[in-house]
Amino acid sequence: MVKKGKIEVRIEHCKGCGLCLTTCKLNAIALSTADVTNSSGYPYVIMINENCTGCTMCAIMCPDQAIDVYREQEHS
Ligand code: SF4
Ligand code: SF4
Repeated sequence: MVKKGKIEVRIEHCKGCGLCLTTCKLNAIALSTADVTNSSGYPYVIMINENCTGCTMCAIMCPDQAIDVYREQEHS
């Protein structure tokens, strides 16, 4: 069974650099549109589908520790 994951983005820490997007092989994340920004004026990362497996690559890549990753518990 494919693991399900999700991310939570600390919106105010994200500067919209897009580095994390390059790590997501499942294309589960994108930047918000230019008119949806944090208080510093940067677009921020959002989940765009249910593809996330919780691999953590995006969080590891982020230089600003703006992403937390959660994985669904496996049930027996
Ligand atoms: S945890 Fe992995 S699958 Fe989920 S958004 Fe980040 S890079 Fe993509
Ligand atoms: S979450 Fe981190 S790596 Fe991704 S765009 Fe924001 S600052 Fe850049």
